[in-house]
Amino acid sequence: MRQLIIIGSGPAGYTAAIYAARANLAPLVIASSVEAGGELMNTTEVENFPGFPEGVQGPDLMTKMQEQAEKFGAEIVYDDVVNLDLAGATKTVTLGSGRVEESDALIFATGSAYRRIGIEGEDRLSGRGVSWCATCDGFFFRERTIAVVGGGDSAMEEATFLTRFASKVYVIHRRGELRASKIMQERAFANEKIEFVWNSEVVDVLGEDAVTGVVLESTVDGTRSELALDGLFVAIGNDPRTHLVHDKLDLTPEGTIWVDGRSSRTSVRGVFAAGDVIDPTYRQAVTAAGSGTVAALDAEHFLAALGEAGAPEVDADEIGGRPEADRASAA
Ligand code: NAP
Repeated sequence: MRQLIIIGSGPAGYTAAIYAARANLAPLVIASSVEAGGELMNTTEVENFPGFPEGVQGPDLMTKMQEQAEKFGAEIVYDDVVNLDLAGATKTVTLGSGRVEESDALIFATGSAYRRIGIEGEDRLSGRGVSWCATCDGFFFRERTIAVVGGGDSAMEEATFLTRFASKVYVIHRRGELRASKIMQERAFANEKIEFVWNSEVVDVLGEDAVTGVVLESTVDGTRSELALDGLFVAIGNDPRTHLVHDKLDLTPEGTIWVDGRSSRTSVRGVFAAGDVIDPTYRQAVTAAGSGTVAALDAEHFLAALGEAGAPEVDADEIGGRPEADRASAA
């Protein structure tokens, strides 16, 4: 039996692994079979991670975090969790391969998943012109006309990146002003290949075997129009990845995992959570890394208390778990 299992390999998971490994907890990191490294693996240049004044490529940053965790003794397995048993003192994790791992403590850092618009053509033409990842698929749209949906930093980043390939990039936003940070907005406004389509929602994606266009609906007067396109990139935010625990851990009204104040303690004793999966607001690589640090320190404290007190006598209020009284008052 292990002391600590960490599920997730983004900045939160790997930072938790670095701290826990340096504390001699020899954590096992379940890194996912296809999405190891998390969201930053799909990013190009990260300009705001402290310590990299020249910027750093997202995948390079994640490789460095992984190497740093392994250097101190973290074990990494590239598989997916298919089942979790969190109820007892021993936490049981079943992987896609059938491998079963057990631990005293668990850190849940599964991040968030791309949000979908929720229209029929989106799923049907996924991989046939509809994409959620410019760095993965931008190359296929050389000299084509494409659109990015969204008004946040992700949409500006994707649109700006896609101008490397596409001849024209529309940014379709449902309001008349952007949510993105000033610097990202200015970069997009200055790019001659980018044209903004304001106050519009995509209500249908056109095309049989490949995207040929979209139907737009004005959010001002409801009128509909068609826009001819070769590709559509959806960048409208992310939702926390809680499908493994939604019936096992308390969630917040925003859908993130509930944690106790500024700690990483979830509603179940011995289970900690970090990164985008607990954060509806900031969702930065740096804040996720900081959150992973908190989770590792909380888990370390929990395991030390467990070692001293023995599992059955340990007070849940002291080392984790949501007190029933608090749960009732929050409800
Ligand atoms: P976001 O900030 O939540 O923005 C999502 C955008 O999509 C908003 O403009 C929103 O419109 C729009 N949207 C949401 N649901 C929609 C729907 N169903 N249909 C049409 N439009 C919809 O998400 P994000 O851009 O992915 O950014 C997430 C976080 O990561 C932010 O904190 C951001 O700063 C950060 N980030 C940072 C960088 C960077 O610094 N380089 C890069 C990427 C992301 P409304 O504005 O009308 O709500």
